[in-house]
Amino acid sequence: MSVGFESVRLASEAAFRAMAAPLAETFLVRQQRQLDLAQSGHAIHYWGFCAFCGDRARFTCDWHAAFSHPDGRQEPNWRERLVCDRCGLNNRLRAALHFMQARAGLQRSSLIYLTEQATPFYAAMRQRSDCLVGSEFLRDGTPPGGHNVGGLRHEDVTALSFSDGIFDLVGCFEVLEHVHDYRAGLRELRRVLRPGGHLTASFPFRMDLSETLVRARIDAAGEVEHLAEPEYHGDPLREGGILCFRHFGWDILDAMRMAGFSEAACHLYWSWDLGYLGDPQCLFHAVR
Ligand SMILES: [Zn+2]
Repeated sequence: MSVGFESVRLASEAAFRAMAAPLAETFLVRQQRQLDLAQSGHAIHYWGFCAFCGDRARFTCDWHAAFSHPDGRQEPNWRERLVCDRCGLNNRLRAALHFMQARAGLQRSSLIYLTEQATPFYAAMRQRSDCLVGSEFLRDGTPPGGHNVGGLRHEDVTALSFSDGIFDLVGCFEVLEHVHDYRAGLRELRRVLRPGGHLTASFPFRMDLSETLVRARIDAAGEVEHLAEPEYHGDPLREGGILCFRHFGWDILDAMRMAGFSEAACHLYWSWDLGYLGDPQCLFHAVR
């Protein structure tokens, strides 16, 4: 059983295209294995190793938010619903934490900023870090850098209240697609990192797109203009969810470089043993 974090690092769309044929073959083999597992029952279980628990663990997946294939087969949402029975963390969160430990230098003493606070990931990270700051985008009048009565800190990722260069690591997961000016957000996330500090991020990513798909934008009058069927994602603080402005394409790597990051890349990963199923699963990483 391999418990290291194995990934394919892709620094550009060209690098992806060069590997597209072997990757497609690999995806097909994995897909069949996943579909076979999905046939195993209404509640899907198998044994593997949880990198967060550091031990053998049983993974469970349900059928909430399942996908339909064109041929009618159903496939579970492995990314969000494949959960370790012990720690309760899903595939995406276990992988993000594992990646930060393996590739972004995460240590107990690292000074970390997470662009979330009212989430299971923040709670899990607190168990692994002595120096963690989290925040949410509050709409209750709390000033930037202030805390509300519930103890949540307010930050706007396009105008952070932190000083320059203070964090070793920034984790920004499933946030940038909801930020209208995500380029300003990237510049801010870089600004608060120390030189050599690491950004780890995830967001809806379409490997088939060179250019980011804009689903909604803010017009001159400050109103939201929908260019595609409105898509709302779950949000711990907002019933009805939060609007997704875009699905990113490969140009996100250019946006990261333009924001001043180096070594920007997409890391593709998959592991049966570690419970990282679903294709493609990817995390983005860059260094200040
Ligand atoms: Zn676990």
